[in-house]
Amino acid sequence: MIDIDLRSVMMVSVLLGILFSIGLLAARSYTDGRTRDSMTIWALGMLLQPITWGLIVLRGQIPDYLSIAVANSLTAITFALFAHALRRLRQPSGVPKLPYSLAVLVFVGMSVEMFFIHDAHWRVIVVATLVTWQLLLVGREALAGQWRLQQAGEQLTAAVFFLGAGIMAARGVHEVIFAVGLTPAFVATPMQIALYMYMALGSVIASFGYVLICNERTFAELRQMAATDPLTGLFNRRPFEQMGEKLIADAARKRRPLALLIIDVDHFKQFNDSYGHAVGDAVLQRLADVLQAQLRSADLIGRMGGEEFAALLPDTGLEPARQVAERLREAVDALEVSSVGVVVRIQISIGLAMLDEKAAHSDEPAEMLVGLMREADLAMYAAKRAGRNRVEVAL
Ligand code: GH3
Ligand code: MG
Ligand code: MG
Repeated sequence: MIDIDLRSVMMVSVLLGILFSIGLLAARSYTDGRTRDSMTIWALGMLLQPITWGLIVLRGQIPDYLSIAVANSLTAITFALFAHALRRLRQPSGVPKLPYSLAVLVFVGMSVEMFFIHDAHWRVIVVATLVTWQLLLVGREALAGQWRLQQAGEQLTAAVFFLGAGIMAARGVHEVIFAVGLTPAFVATPMQIALYMYMALGSVIASFGYVLICNERTFAELRQMAATDPLTGLFNRRPFEQMGEKLIADAARKRRPLALLIIDVDHFKQFNDSYGHAVGDAVLQRLADVLQAQLRSADLIGRMGGEEFAALLPDTGLEPARQVAERLREAVDALEVSSVGVVVRIQISIGLAMLDEKAAHSDEPAEMLVGLMREADLAMYAAKRAGRNRVEVAL
């Protein structure tokens, strides 16, 4: 028999858990919103563990009800809190009801058994089943995001909980077969060692995975913030160009048509001078919404700067593209924005350029995009010269 001192393992785990929770609570101030709530919930779960361990260590010196029923229920609540924390990372509100319900079931079941039924065999089987179920739910919660976006954090966290579910299930099956009933605490049978080692190390490793998830999330938010313009929510020029180059490479390879629109607001300087910058901003916001609403989800739109926008339409030939541009122009022309008591209107000029069949095979995507932009720009200026509020196609 391996000689493992389970009490020491637990002490180390408790210390790590407490240190970790303190770290997590301290780190909260650098985050906001969902991440902050989630970290609080996770830290709460970690902080329940020293209490749980304390109750288990005192077995024999305190009533069994406390060291068995209450301790197990606290463990179940900890797992429910972990599921809750993981859910909160993805949703501003929303409580995973099932993990909490299972924790309540563990508590009620153990209380009823210990006061009225006195059958440790069935208690172990039922509790092992409930907690296995819970651990599966926590693991699934860790993986619940979009599959494509999952990284090390999600996978590590989920793996820890699925492993726990496996150990718990093994404990239940073990009990069904051998009917051990109540083992004295801290007797190092292989089953007990597996269980206690998991309890001690599992949550520490899962917490490490959880921090990775929080990190990944924060980075994703920063990337998103850097990529989009705060006023309109549209992509900035650089991400637009990066994604645009991919669309162009795609179109060139598949020999599919692709159209670029450059959209510029008419006399916007004058507009700002008349109504003020704040009204100008409100109008740009509405304009972005209108443009986006008129385009397909496959189309790419970005704010190139100021009051100039660009849209790439994959799989779109000249005539359909001209119709789209015309539709955009009409929608903006019909738009009435009321801001600070005035109703204002704007108009746009659009330059349209098509991806050239010949250029499409000679150039790099980046060069093709630059060329396309230049052509669409020239067309847009031609539209301005021809009287504005119109669409011009590049020659
Ligand atoms: P044109 O019809 O020839 O395009 O005339 P224009 O006045 O729109 O052209 P110009 O490029 O000279 O002026 C663009 C103006 O857009 C300058 C600035 O006042 C305004 N503008 C640019 N960015 C913003 C913004 O973020 N908010 C607001 N409110 N105005 C902006
Ligand atoms: Mg303008
Ligand atoms: Mg301009």
